Amino acid sequence: MRDFLKREIENLKKEYLYRERFILPEGVINFSSNDYLGLRNNEKTKKLICENINRLALGSGASALVSGFDKIQKELENELSKYKETESCLVVGSGYLANVGIIQALATKESIIFSDELNHASIIDGIRLSKAKKEIYKHNNLLDLEKKLEKYKNFNGLKIVITDGVFSMEGDIANIPKLYELQDKYNFILVIDDAHATGVIGNGKGTIFHYNLKPRENVIQIGTLSKAIGSYGAFICGIKELIEFLINKMRPAIFSTALSPIQNFISLENLKIAIKENFRREKIFKLSNYLVSELKKLDLNIKYFGTPIISLILGTEKEALRYRDELLKRKIFIQAIRPPTIPKGTSRLRITISYNHSQKDIENLISALKDIKKA
Ligand SMILES: *Cc1c(COP(=O)(O)O)cnc(C)c1O
Repeated sequence: MRDFLKREIENLKKEYLYRERFILPEGVINFSSNDYLGLRNNEKTKKLICENINRLALGSGASALVSGFDKIQKELENELSKYKETESCLVVGSGYLANVGIIQALATKESIIFSDELNHASIIDGIRLSKAKKEIYKHNNLLDLEKKLEKYKNFNGLKIVITDGVFSMEGDIANIPKLYELQDKYNFILVIDDAHATGVIGNGKGTIFHYNLKPRENVIQIGTLSKAIGSYGAFICGIKELIEFLINKMRPAIFSTALSPIQNFISLENLKIAIKENFRREKIFKLSNYLVSELKKLDLNIKYFGTPIISLILGTEKEALRYRDELLKRKIFIQAIRPPTIPKGTSRLRITISYNHSQKDIENLISALKDIKKA
């Protein structure tokens, strides 16, 4: 085994695709966290945990259907369905499990799934695990989607269109108004993965609300509690029959232990803060706009769509790694994103802005990039 693994690892290194985890040294500014609202270390929630620790179990003890469901999870689900303006909500282990599980539960051999080509890996894996037919449409290209829907106009099984709300690598936003139009015409279930939208766009309520639209009966909103909410776990919001069905059919919710009450407590308290404290969102948009306007002056290839995910496209894996390593020498961390996470030739630094960044952090980043570009 060792020889086989060594060979595989060597190949990754040769192609500049080798990865390792590392612990950020003290004093390094992190521009690669999804902790958009800066809630991961929130003092208020930490204090509340201390005050409530005696009534919080350390683990849930079982899957939700057996005995792992409790009052805190119920309250978290209620709060989330209110926030997302839906009838009901199911909290599950993670966003990865939510996507894999919902596709597996809803789609059968007689279903067809239409999926954006840049959807998150967990959606891709969910489609692979299901036995449904699939059509991959060009990124955010709803003309291409419509062509594919047209092809299946007389298809009798369930039709599901699934898209990231805010695309995790590009930072652009799915065109929900157009998707709603197509839904009226072609009658499908629309699944929106709001992992990067929740707490951030639409006043924090997500992609639908960003367009001043309302949830619909045939729309499912998924989100994670691990990004802007700064905790762990995920949720699925929709009509009450959907949640009832998933409780009975969704394997990652049935055959996996429920989240710990402590984790759900953190999610609940951080969620309340995310809902209330608009100033957190205002700051990340202000910093993002400023950073982009300065980087554009440097003639760098920037992708920006008004979300706190900003891409600096560098092309080759090698160049992306050079920028990452040079930045780290200057006490700034931005992870280089390489294939297979993104298409070949578009290796990049994916910059994410957090409430915890200061104006000075942004200035430091700008001058570091200026230096590295010159060298
Ligand atoms: C991060 C992410 C997930 C996975 O969520 P986890 O809770 O981290 O498992 C799913 N979908 C998208 C679009 C993501 O960005």
